Amino acid sequence: MARAFIGFGGNLGDSRQLITDAIVCLAQRCELQILAKSCFYQSAPVDAAGGDYINAVIEIETELSPYGLLHVCQAVEQEFGRERPYANAPRTLDLDILSFEGVSQTDTELTLPHPRIIERSFVLLPLLEIAPDFFLPNIGDLKTYLPQVANQRIEKLPCRNCNCGEKDVSRQASH
Ligand code: AMP
Repeated sequence: MARAFIGFGGNLGDSRQLITDAIVCLAQRCELQILAKSCFYQSAPVDAAGGDYINAVIEIETELSPYGLLHVCQAVEQEFGRERPYANAPRTLDLDILSFEGVSQTDTELTLPHPRIIERSFVLLPLLEIAPDFFLPNIGDLKTYLPQVANQRIEKLPCRNCNCGEKDVSRQASH
Protein backbone atom coordinates (compact mmCIF):
# COMPACT_ATOMS: atom_id res chain seq x y z
CA MET A 1 0.00 0.00 0.00
CA ALA A 2 1.24 3.49 -0.80
CA ARG A 3 0.23 6.85 0.57
CA ALA A 4 -0.56 9.60 -1.89
CA PHE A 5 -1.96 13.11 -1.88
CA ILE A 6 -4.46 14.36 -4.45
CA GLY A 7 -5.25 18.04 -5.08
CA PHE A 8 -8.64 19.21 -6.35
CA GLY A 9 -9.51 22.48 -8.05
CA GLY A 10 -12.35 23.98 -10.02
CA ASN A 11 -13.80 27.33 -11.00
CA LEU A 12 -16.87 26.45 -13.07
CA GLY A 13 -20.24 25.63 -11.55
CA ASP A 14 -20.68 24.74 -7.88
CA SER A 15 -17.03 23.78 -7.34
CA ARG A 16 -17.43 23.01 -3.65
CA GLN A 17 -20.22 20.54 -4.37
CA LEU A 18 -18.35 19.05 -7.33
CA ILE A 19 -15.24 18.45 -5.22
CA THR A 20 -17.36 16.99 -2.42
CA ASP A 21 -19.03 14.64 -4.90
CA ALA A 22 -15.70 13.69 -6.48
CA ILE A 23 -14.29 12.78 -3.06
CA VAL A 24 -17.35 10.61 -2.37
CA CYS A 25 -16.82 9.02 -5.77
CA LEU A 26 -13.19 8.21 -4.90
CA ALA A 27 -14.17 6.95 -1.43
CA GLN A 28 -16.46 4.39 -3.03
CA ARG A 29 -13.60 2.76 -4.93
CA CYS A 30 -12.23 -0.32 -3.24
CA GLU A 31 -8.69 0.29 -4.58
CA LEU A 32 -8.14 3.24 -2.29
CA GLN A 33 -8.99 4.55 1.13
CA ILE A 34 -9.26 8.19 2.11
CA LEU A 35 -7.20 8.96 5.21
CA ALA A 36 -7.63 12.72 5.56
CA LYS A 37 -9.39 15.58 3.87
CA SER A 38 -8.58 19.28 4.05
CA CYS A 39 -10.99 22.17 4.34
CA PHE A 40 -11.98 24.04 1.22
CA TYR A 41 -9.97 27.06 0.12
CA GLN A 42 -10.86 29.85 -2.28
CA SER A 43 -7.92 31.07 -4.35
CA ALA A 44 -7.16 33.55 -7.08
CA PRO A 45 -6.44 31.97 -10.47
CA VAL A 46 -2.70 31.60 -11.16
CA ASP A 47 -1.77 31.46 -14.86
CA ALA A 48 -5.38 30.49 -15.57
CA ALA A 49 -8.57 32.04 -16.87
CA GLY A 50 -11.88 32.71 -15.10
CA GLY A 51 -12.93 33.45 -11.56
CA ASP A 52 -11.63 32.28 -8.21
CA TYR A 53 -10.93 28.60 -7.72
CA ILE A 54 -12.08 26.28 -4.95
CA ASN A 55 -9.36 23.88 -3.81
CA ALA A 56 -8.91 20.98 -1.43
CA VAL A 57 -6.42 18.16 -0.83
CA ILE A 58 -6.94 14.59 0.36
CA GLU A 59 -4.54 11.95 1.61
CA ILE A 60 -5.18 8.40 0.47
CA GLU A 61 -3.78 4.93 0.86
CA THR A 62 -3.91 2.79 -2.25
CA GLU A 63 -2.96 -0.49 -3.85
CA LEU A 64 -2.95 1.18 -7.27
CA SER A 65 0.21 2.00 -9.17
CA PRO A 66 0.89 5.70 -9.81
CA TYR A 67 -0.46 5.36 -13.37
CA GLY A 68 -3.44 3.38 -12.10
CA LEU A 69 -4.23 6.23 -9.73
CA LEU A 70 -3.79 8.78 -12.53
CA HIS A 71 -6.32 6.90 -14.66
CA VAL A 72 -8.79 6.82 -11.76
CA CYS A 73 -8.33 10.59 -11.30
CA GLN A 74 -8.86 11.19 -15.02
CA ALA A 75 -11.99 9.02 -15.01
CA VAL A 76 -13.40 11.11 -12.15
CA GLU A 77 -12.56 14.33 -14.03
CA GLN A 78 -14.43 12.98 -17.05
CA GLU A 79 -17.37 11.86 -14.94
CA PHE A 80 -17.71 15.37 -13.59
CA GLY A 81 -17.68 16.88 -17.06
CA ARG A 82 -14.28 18.41 -17.38
CA GLU A 83 -13.67 19.91 -20.80
CA ARG A 84 -10.27 20.97 -22.09
CA PRO A 85 -11.01 23.55 -24.82
CA TYR A 86 -7.57 25.15 -24.38
CA ALA A 87 -4.63 25.13 -21.97
CA ASN A 88 -5.47 26.49 -18.51
CA ALA A 89 -9.11 27.05 -19.47
CA PRO A 90 -11.69 27.39 -16.66
CA ARG A 91 -12.45 23.92 -15.40
CA THR A 92 -15.23 22.07 -13.65
CA LEU A 93 -12.87 19.75 -11.86
CA ASP A 94 -9.13 19.18 -11.93
CA LEU A 95 -7.42 16.37 -10.03
CA ASP A 96 -3.65 16.34 -9.63
CA ILE A 97 -1.57 13.69 -7.92
CA LEU A 98 0.62 15.83 -5.70
CA SER A 99 2.83 13.03 -4.43
CA PHE A 100 2.91 9.26 -4.44
CA GLU A 101 4.94 7.61 -1.72
CA GLY A 102 8.49 6.83 -2.75
CA VAL A 103 8.01 7.81 -6.40
CA SER A 104 10.08 10.49 -8.09
CA GLN A 105 9.84 10.66 -11.86
CA THR A 106 9.58 13.09 -14.74
CA ASP A 107 7.22 11.94 -17.42
CA THR A 108 4.82 14.14 -19.40
CA GLU A 109 2.02 11.71 -18.53
CA LEU A 110 2.86 11.70 -14.84
CA THR A 111 5.45 13.80 -13.04
CA LEU A 112 5.89 13.06 -9.36
CA PRO A 113 5.95 14.85 -7.05
CA HIS A 114 3.76 17.31 -8.95
CA PRO A 115 6.13 19.91 -10.42
CA ARG A 116 4.20 22.89 -9.02
CA ILE A 117 3.64 21.50 -5.52
CA ILE A 118 5.78 24.18 -3.83
CA GLU A 119 4.82 27.05 -6.13
CA ARG A 120 1.12 27.34 -5.37
CA SER A 121 -0.54 28.48 -2.17
CA PHE A 122 -3.68 26.55 -3.18
CA VAL A 123 -1.65 23.34 -2.99
CA LEU A 124 0.60 24.10 -0.05
CA LEU A 125 -2.03 25.38 2.39
CA PRO A 126 -4.53 22.50 2.17
CA LEU A 127 -1.71 19.96 1.99
CA LEU A 128 0.03 21.34 5.08
CA GLU A 129 -3.32 21.48 6.90
CA ILE A 130 -3.59 17.67 6.78
CA ALA A 131 0.17 16.94 6.75
CA PRO A 132 1.89 19.76 8.66
CA ASP A 133 5.34 18.12 8.60
CA PHE A 134 5.22 16.98 5.01
CA PHE A 135 8.73 16.38 3.72
CA LEU A 136 9.87 15.36 0.25
CA PRO A 137 13.34 14.14 -0.74
CA ASN A 138 15.14 16.76 -2.86
CA ILE A 139 12.52 19.36 -1.90
CA GLY A 140 12.62 19.28 1.89
CA ASP A 141 10.15 20.52 4.47
CA LEU A 142 7.18 21.93 2.55
CA LYS A 143 6.24 24.53 5.14
CA THR A 144 9.51 26.34 4.51
CA TYR A 145 8.11 27.27 1.06
CA LEU A 146 5.10 29.13 2.47
CA PRO A 147 6.79 32.56 2.46
CA GLN A 148 7.39 32.20 -1.28
CA VAL A 149 3.65 31.90 -2.00
CA ALA A 150 2.50 34.47 0.57
CA ASN A 151 1.59 36.92 -2.22
CA GLN A 152 -0.94 34.50 -3.79
CA ARG A 153 -4.44 35.32 -2.57
CA ILE A 154 -6.12 32.43 -0.79
CA GLU A 155 -8.78 32.10 1.90
CA LYS A 156 -9.77 29.08 3.98
CA LEU A 157 -13.55 28.68 3.77
CA PRO A 158 -15.65 27.97 6.84
CA CYS A 159 -16.73 24.35 7.02
CA ARG A 160 -20.34 23.28 7.35
CA ASN A 161 -20.16 20.17 9.55
CA CYS A 162 -16.48 20.44 10.11
CA ASN A 163 -14.44 17.29 10.44
CA CYS A 164 -11.76 18.59 8.13
CA GLY A 165 -8.20 17.68 8.86
CA GLU A 166 -9.29 14.72 10.94
CA LYS A 167 -7.89 11.32 10.16
CA ASP A 168 -9.92 8.41 8.86
CA VAL A 169 -12.74 10.30 7.21
CA SER A 170 -13.26 7.71 4.49
CA ARG A 171 -16.74 7.51 3.03
CA GLN A 172 -17.67 10.85 4.57
CA ALA A 173 -18.04 14.15 2.78
CA SER A 174 -19.66 16.55 5.16
CA HIS A 175 -18.41 19.86 3.75
P1 AMP B 1 -4.00 19.56 -16.21
O1 AMP B 1 -4.50 20.24 -17.43
O2 AMP B 1 -3.27 20.45 -15.27
O3 AMP B 1 -5.04 18.73 -15.51
O4 AMP B 1 -2.90 18.51 -16.71
C1 AMP B 1 -3.30 17.26 -17.14
C2 AMP B 1 -2.13 16.56 -17.78
O5 AMP B 1 -0.99 16.55 -16.90
C3 AMP B 1 -2.46 15.13 -18.10
O6 AMP B 1 -2.07 14.87 -19.42
C4 AMP B 1 -1.61 14.31 -17.15
O7 AMP B 1 -1.19 13.10 -17.75
C5 AMP B 1 -0.45 15.24 -16.86
N1 AMP B 1 0.20 15.07 -15.56
C6 AMP B 1 1.54 15.05 -15.36
N2 AMP B 1 1.83 14.90 -14.07
C7 AMP B 1 0.64 14.83 -13.39
C8 AMP B 1 0.28 14.67 -12.02
N3 AMP B 1 1.21 14.55 -11.04
N4 AMP B 1 -1.05 14.62 -11.70
C9 AMP B 1 -1.98 14.75 -12.66
N5 AMP B 1 -1.72 14.91 -13.98
C10 AMP B 1 -0.41 14.94 -14.35
